[in-house]
Amino acid sequence: MHAGPVDGARAVAVWRDGGAVRVPADQPVVTAFDAGLARGDGVFESVLVDGGATPRLADHLVRLQRSTALLDLPAVPDEHWRALVAAVIDGWPAGVEGVCRLFLTRGEGASPTALALLAPVGADVLAQRRDGISVVALTYGLAADVRAGAPWLLGGAKTLSYAVNMAAQRHAHAVGADDVVFTSVEGRLLEGPTSTVVWAAGGTLHTPPVDTGILAGTTQARLFAAAEADGWPTAVSDGTVADLHGADAVWLLSGIRGAARVTALDGVARGDAGLTARVQELLARR
Ligand code: PLP
Repeated sequence: MHAGPVDGARAVAVWRDGGAVRVPADQPVVTAFDAGLARGDGVFESVLVDGGATPRLADHLVRLQRSTALLDLPAVPDEHWRALVAAVIDGWPAGVEGVCRLFLTRGEGASPTALALLAPVGADVLAQRRDGISVVALTYGLAADVRAGAPWLLGGAKTLSYAVNMAAQRHAHAVGADDVVFTSVEGRLLEGPTSTVVWAAGGTLHTPPVDTGILAGTTQARLFAAAEADGWPTAVSDGTVADLHGADAVWLLSGIRGAARVTALDGVARGDAGLTARVQELLARR
């Protein structure tokens, strides 16, 4: 059931009374007493809608279930998430790239809220995918090994508590950059506020280890599998900002933006040795 064909503007579906229900996009779907609002207590995923479908949904559901378990939220079966996605993308124009956000909040009392939102991918995101981004390195304020031994810090979970990530991006904008690479207090590379860091050096693609508490990126995993199959070696490597300055190319990767090449790091312009086209072609393969 849905509220009529959409025009590529916005759509919402919510799990209600045992089924996925499409509701008008401007209709309230979350109680003001939801712990997701009060405390950011919940998890989410952002899934690309391409050609009117979600070809990467399975990878995102794996991570969503992992995040759900890390926060001790009640598990929502994959079939329910698939039904919510089907309801929200119903009627979406194949020619409009969309971002489908899946939310699971702790809700109120014992009833969590599961919902799916759909909106067009922003023009700013499409421009960054095409033209690249300037980034600044900012400290995340944690030692790289602290989250592995501190499960309450929720390393590896994609939680709704993204206020720090958004503040870091605003700080980047205030100093004239587009985005951020977080580093640990020892200066080890972590991730971007909404992306995975990948760099090419010595003929190999590198990305930081997830035992630092960063999110396991689905796009990075896809790129590395395709690169290996194509004869381009990959490695999980500890790195520093100096390694990024010395690299042949640096990208921030995410499901919606794809591979955005880094054109400047801390105000220093940098190239990509012509490798971005190959990375984007590998990402388009699978
Ligand atoms: N790291 C963080 C903190 C993110 O928010 C994201 C984006 O979802 C990623 C990495 C990249 O993940 P993916 O490639 O699965 O979109």
